[in-house]
Amino acid sequence: MTMSTPRSITLLATLLALLPILVRAQPEMPVEQWKGKTILLVGAHPDDDSGSYGTLAMLRANGNEVFVLLLTTGNVGTGDPDMTRDWLAKIRRQEELSALAELGIPEDHYINLGYTDGMVEFADREEVVKRLVRWYRKIKPDVLFAFEPGYGYQRWHKADHRAASYLAADAARAAEWRLLFPGQIIHEGLEAHQVEAYMFYSSTEPNTEVDISKYIEQKIAARTKHISQFSAAFNKYMGPDPKDLKRADRKVFLERMNRARTGDMLEHFRYYKGPPDGIGSQRR
Ligand SMILES: [Zn+2]
Repeated sequence: MTMSTPRSITLLATLLALLPILVRAQPEMPVEQWKGKTILLVGAHPDDDSGSYGTLAMLRANGNEVFVLLLTTGNVGTGDPDMTRDWLAKIRRQEELSALAELGIPEDHYINLGYTDGMVEFADREEVVKRLVRWYRKIKPDVLFAFEPGYGYQRWHKADHRAASYLAADAARAAEWRLLFPGQIIHEGLEAHQVEAYMFYSSTEPNTEVDISKYIEQKIAARTKHISQFSAAFNKYMGPDPKDLKRADRKVFLERMNRARTGDMLEHFRYYKGPPDGIGSQRR
């Protein structure tokens, strides 16, 4: 039997300190090194992807294909008494496309299913899942970014986000069974598809950090495009350019956007690899 020496105590202390890192499932290959992958992000509204903009910019720069699919047009998110649903849907489509352009994501990599903002959980679930499955089978993502549905418990999100978290995962499960929505396979020439891995955003238990320091300027530029959401334009829309804002409002908006430069340069996700059935139960 060996007595504890200061050295072995130090070793033990080091191992204990490392334990949370060792048991956390990180991607085998750091996200910073991913290349040649197909990535699909599913969200509810134009701007739900904005917390991942640094990671998406990095993935694009490293030669990955990135698609963004949003369930709603975002046509309700306004405090402007003169705004209409149709006008806001157009504004937010343009904001989203401009933001994605900053990240190097082309217009044909943006899909919007056109549901009404705030109403996703009342939409026909079978229809939403079927439409998502069709896109998963077309795009064949290696990695799916989606709202965290939770594991071992339900992750509460506000309405559309809550629905989107489950729908994205449910569709990943359905996409791999060829006898589910078989018409897509028989008549549309698609194939069953299994998503290999997941990056859940808005997670309360993230296990993966992505260093986005090299992409912070792109992230800020992209987030700044969502002027109808992140500035005083939310209450009175004047146009797509920060110059359209009143001077004081413009200052507040740009300061808010630029604050990211002094914050931490990490984006956080829960990474999960494996069959979709385990998304909510395995501590991985
Ligand atoms: Zn949202």
